[in-house]
Amino acid sequence: MMRSFDMIVIGAGISGLGMAHYARQAGMRVCVLEASSRVGGCLHTAVGDDGFWLELGAHTCFNSYGRLLQIMRELGLIDRLVLRERLPYRLWQDGRSYAVAARLNWLELMLHAWQLPWLSKRGRTVAGYYRRLLGRGNYERVLRHAFAAVICQPADNVPADLLFRRRARDKRVPRSFTLPGGLMQIATTLAAQCDCRLNHPVRALRRVAGGFEVVTDGGVLHGARVVCATPAPVAAQLLAEVSPQIAGMLSGIAEASVESVAVAVPRAQVGLPPLAGLIAVDDAFYSMVSRDVVPHPQWRGFTFHFRPGRLDAEGQLAHIGAVLGVEQSVVRRLAGKRNRLPSPDATHHARIAALNAALEGQPLGLVGNYFQGVAIEDCLARVAREFKRLSVRSAGLPAGPAHR
Ligand SMILES: Cc1cc2nc3c(=O)[nH]c(=O)nc-3n(C[C@H](O)[C@H](O)[C@H](O)COP(=O)(O)OP(=O)(O)OC[C@H]3O[C@@H](n4cnc5c(N)ncnc54)[C@H](O)[C@@H]3O)c2cc1C
Repeated sequence: MMRSFDMIVIGAGISGLGMAHYARQAGMRVCVLEASSRVGGCLHTAVGDDGFWLELGAHTCFNSYGRLLQIMRELGLIDRLVLRERLPYRLWQDGRSYAVAARLNWLELMLHAWQLPWLSKRGRTVAGYYRRLLGRGNYERVLRHAFAAVICQPADNVPADLLFRRRARDKRVPRSFTLPGGLMQIATTLAAQCDCRLNHPVRALRRVAGGFEVVTDGGVLHGARVVCATPAPVAAQLLAEVSPQIAGMLSGIAEASVESVAVAVPRAQVGLPPLAGLIAVDDAFYSMVSRDVVPHPQWRGFTFHFRPGRLDAEGQLAHIGAVLGVEQSVVRRLAGKRNRLPSPDATHHARIAALNAALEGQPLGLVGNYFQGVAIEDCLARVAREFKRLSVRSAGLPAGPAHR
């Protein structure tokens, strides 16, 4: 007999696992299907033989991530938070590093920044908003590179309100934190609490009475509700038959990719002062994120996020050696990965409103980092909204869970 679930979640990143967590808490029979051999998606901690770890994807959580903190409380992880030391990001340009403050024109900044209380982000792009707020010169010299570093792609045309959302801070926990073995522990702990199946790529969805059939290599499962927690292009493919309208809207969401390389170097070899990372100006990489914020007695670790297609693997390692000012022979490559992130443009808000309207009343959920922003907390905000919608009892569905 075909296995049947109240909810099937496709994708075991933080969005999919967050959804499964809420569903499980509400008493639903839920199953998560993950295409790859690991959970976490963009939460990806690479661990060396000696336990030294580096983040290939997300690296920082903040005390403003209220939904994440609540989940961590429920998982028993809240007492394990590790404070990330406060260190500066520096700019990297023409083979040298600079303090960010030294590259800003402070007079230009003061002549513009007074507008802060009145200047709305709504309807403005990142370039439009921050040029006005901090001055065109400051934007071109510093900020456009800093924003590109944050989202690993040019950020000029991204809607300004998708970046740096203001949220209430929970002062009881460190302002910026990770976990003893890196952030992936959040994903592995969530996955351990539910029926999460690795190496289960979903190939197709079919609408049937009482829900959906979900086709995987291992067989077909039945879900009263299905939630796609994959990147938008994958969701577009999966929904092509079930809802060509929704699939069409999803396929219009562009994506950027970045080649992330994590390296460890013996402490004594690196001359760079301790830093949180580098913001590259017109270089082969967008940014470098350092492990100095969680220091290790023997190693220093750095993850470089390269523009795709610029350098081959050998060239990337040579460049890393040059930036760190060390012989390439002492650079130990821990891991590499191609990360993908959405590229929202000016049509974003209208597209999301249309998607939400098309989903209304359907037992189909869409979650991911292409709705409210890419931050982990943005993903969980979307999850909470979709969970609430899907948990409302509707015609044809089995008795729903408690409302959240
Ligand atoms: C380099 C980088 C640095 C970042 N730094 C931070 C940070 O410091 N702080 C922060 O808050 N956020 C950060 N982010 C953003 C954040 O990590 C991501 O936006 C978020 O983790 C995305 O989660 P998700 O579950 O929506 O998607 P993903 O993590 O992309 O997960 C999607 C999952 O779906 C699976 N999947 C795909 N196709 C199928 C299929 N057919 N069947 C089954 N499964 C499938 C994938 O394998 C994957 O596991 C960073 C992101 C990147 C890339």
